[in-house]
Amino acid sequence: MKGFLKNTAERILSEHQHLEQLRVVLPNRRAGLFFTQHLGQLISEPTWMPEVVTIEELFYGYAKQRPADNLTLIFELFKVYQSLHPSPESFDKFYYWGEMILKDFNDVDQFMAEAKKLYHHLSEVKELSADLSFLTEEQVALIQQFWKSFELQEAYQKEKFLQFWEMLSTLYESFQAHLNVAGLAYSGQLYRKVVEGLTSIPNPEKHHVFIGFNAFTATEERLIKHFIAEFGAEIYWDVDTYYLDDLNQEAGLFFRAYAKDPVFEKTFPKEIPVKIQREHIKITTYATPLKSNQANLVGSILENVPKGQAWEETVVILPDEQMLFPVLHSLPEQVDKVNVTMGYPVKNTPVYAFIESVLELQRYIKMEDQVLSVYHRPLKDILSLIYLKAENSEFCKDVLKEIQEENRIYYPLEKLQKASPFFELIFKKVASQDLFDYLTTLIEALVERLPDEGLQQSYLFQCYKQLNRLKDIFRSQEAVEVDLEFFIKIFRQLFREVKLPFEGEPLQGLQLMGVLESRNLDFERVIICNMNEDSFPPAASLNSMIPFNLRRAFGLPVQEQNDAIYAYTFYRLLHQAKEVHMIYTTSSDQGKAGEKSRYIQQMQVEMNLQEDEEVVYLPVDLHQSKEIIIEKDKDVVKLLEAYKVDENGFSRKYFSPSALSVYLDCRLKFYFQYIAKVKEKEEVKEEIDAGVFGNLAHYSMEHLYGGFISRKGRSLVEKEDFEDLSKNWVFPAIELGIRQYYNLEKDANTKLSGQMAIVRDVLQKYIEELLAIDKADAPYKIISMEQTYKADFEITTSDGMSKVKLQGIIDRVDEKDGVIRLIDYKSGADKKEFSTVASLFDREDSKRNKAAMQTLYYGLLYQASFPENAKPLKPALFNFKEIFKDDFNPYLKEKPIPKVAAQEVQDYKLLQDQYESTLKVLLEELYDSNIPFDQTNNLEKCKYCPYIELCSRGKV
Ligand code: SF4
Repeated sequence: MKGFLKNTAERILSEHQHLEQLRVVLPNRRAGLFFTQHLGQLISEPTWMPEVVTIEELFYGYAKQRPADNLTLIFELFKVYQSLHPSPESFDKFYYWGEMILKDFNDVDQFMAEAKKLYHHLSEVKELSADLSFLTEEQVALIQQFWKSFELQEAYQKEKFLQFWEMLSTLYESFQAHLNVAGLAYSGQLYRKVVEGLTSIPNPEKHHVFIGFNAFTATEERLIKHFIAEFGAEIYWDVDTYYLDDLNQEAGLFFRAYAKDPVFEKTFPKEIPVKIQREHIKITTYATPLKSNQANLVGSILENVPKGQAWEETVVILPDEQMLFPVLHSLPEQVDKVNVTMGYPVKNTPVYAFIESVLELQRYIKMEDQVLSVYHRPLKDILSLIYLKAENSEFCKDVLKEIQEENRIYYPLEKLQKASPFFELIFKKVASQDLFDYLTTLIEALVERLPDEGLQQSYLFQCYKQLNRLKDIFRSQEAVEVDLEFFIKIFRQLFREVKLPFEGEPLQGLQLMGVLESRNLDFERVIICNMNEDSFPPAASLNSMIPFNLRRAFGLPVQEQNDAIYAYTFYRLLHQAKEVHMIYTTSSDQGKAGEKSRYIQQMQVEMNLQEDEEVVYLPVDLHQSKEIIIEKDKDVVKLLEAYKVDENGFSRKYFSPSALSVYLDCRLKFYFQYIAKVKEKEEVKEEIDAGVFGNLAHYSMEHLYGGFISRKGRSLVEKEDFEDLSKNWVFPAIELGIRQYYNLEKDANTKLSGQMAIVRDVLQKYIEELLAIDKADAPYKIISMEQTYKADFEITTSDGMSKVKLQGIIDRVDEKDGVIRLIDYKSGADKKEFSTVASLFDREDSKRNKAAMQTLYYGLLYQASFPENAKPLKPALFNFKEIFKDDFNPYLKEKPIPKVAAQEVQDYKLLQDQYESTLKVLLEELYDSNIPFDQTNNLEKCKYCPYIELCSRGKV
């Protein structure tokens, strides 16, 4: 197959006799390697090869300098910033802004913008016309637009922005001067320096040939044009009619402009090639339910590649680096050689997880009763890591078990050190100044333990290198004090960007690469994963302090240019392709919907792809995709009998509203949780999550009102009672609640401290608010607090009529003005509105109101417990996230007709028939032997299910 680089190599060979007199400039190293390889294959006799460099190397060569690394530059920028700012923030707070400011400065220089004018407050039109005469009318209008909209902002915000904005101009100038003195530079600064001195560059000894460029920065454009105009340099464009001629194609954005440029115009071929032709390409798109399925799919596409075809002609493009290892693990046997060209983020590696964990560990070591101990969470994390398990798995298991069973919140370091010398190195308290040595010692110890693990060693080496770099930089920045928190922040920020470069011998085997690495390369078979919006093309991410209009006006790149670059990269892949496979996922990912890439949609329109060319792919890995179905055989039926009421009115088990909600979510989950009793992963419930908070609130309210009733000898609560209740009894009730929950001694003198004390104070605010609401409702009579209510419920099964036991704990029942209120305290923001009773049991309804189903269930239980009750039963939800709202209303509301206002449920009994008949249908289904316990089709339900691994429904 002939591709762009091969064709260009041929042309260069035919047009130049003395290759050694050429300097070939390409966009990146990878393209340079391929070009050299092609050229080498075309040359039959020994000869000197041309010099092949990247555009970056060309600039740095003329600048006679290379840029300093980012962290050093941010430190230097911080020094200048400190000298200009009256009260500068600390370095770690500055880091984020510093990175952005540095990037902006880099853009300003790369694109030859006038920093002084850009960062100047140019709101005056008069001033504008004088100052910006070098800009077009459209650009001046953009600047005016920005400052006009800016005028509308709040005065305070305006002033803050202006102060900062105007400082940036001085910062830019001082930073340049500072770097010059220090002998340092950033990349854009070097580019600008070269371009500003273009006229003094002598005619180069070598003839320059520029190959395969698409989007130049302003400095690149000026240099290349200068070389073409003054030194007769050549340029080869990698372009196609398909997107050049179609003005709607963003892929052709830059080429269309270059083709009209007086210098570049002559360098474009007389006839633009027509490489992309629908009739020559077989395009298939695939929708996969989960991200992880893509790897299996790539494996099966490759399995179908006819034998004898050269793997080098096939590329797998991975816009999401995380797919690299799943794809590598799914390659079929016939793929004998693979070449990976992409950076793999070090933060996704096990080594990084290890370093993160040991740093977390350091944060949570404290002295308790003269013993150094570590908090259980980071300890559990680190003991679950592969490296520690490999060292002493039994020990890890025992400690984890001990933490679990004994609910140990802190664990002594001394005990941990005994497991092995490696454990001894890890589990110790380290002073801030020794952190670097501590981490490098641990990495060295790991290297010794992984002698045959090439990949792991590479990660370790990368981490080691970065740590040493960090150490050197910190040592040279004496003014910055390194404490643990600061170290962790910088460590994370630095490693966020670090990638382990995979770059093997090109042209060998199947090619696996990132999107941008594919520039200038051609393949016959192209497989692209993650063809989803926000992956390919990636999400907009132009982090800049410079507002959009100003960026545009001053010629700095905006999102439009980024989009054009990615569009070109995509269409380029079609230049020589005969077979294109595009895979996207349909599930949502971290809140992002699984929307297919705009490129697929474009293809469908432009190339008239038919619907049937889209294949919905279900995983080929049978082990992973095997459905789990539990039939209701004899044994299962026997287990279900436990819920039935015997002749004495007893049952061994009962249906709670939560159990029925689980059944509605997923029948199999119900089976796992309630029938087979597959244990969920247990947690030491010490962190205060919403569930724990809710429990603590329940206990506290129970103690508060329970205490009231026993002190006063009455259950009627009157308005006058609240002052005393709030002032004197909330605090002790909460303390009792917390002690009860954590099994702390009731009368212990020990004070609640740390997180518990914070939770107590937060709870106090909530309970005081609840009391304020209660006071407004007083007087009322407390009927019960946290009391269990039961009901026998009749259903019809294949065995005839049976009764099953229903049961639930109602948080509070009270009576106000002759109405019995069934109150449920909820820690979340549960909605009180529901459409119809049927919707509460509709498993297909994604907005099914579980809380309403539960509260009405209490109506059923209460009425069954007191069948003679004629008073209205009013269900109420005190959802803590809403109690502070002025218009808080706890009562359930029914809204059967969409645009008609919802109606408060005044009495459960009015809904009783509907509720009970729908519940009956549900329970009868549960006992129907023809309906097995099967998996839900709604993958959203699996996301937080504890059985996700059992079901193989986990994602990458
Ligand atoms: S993972 Fe999904 S299918 Fe499996 S039990 Fe949980 S909810 Fe059901």
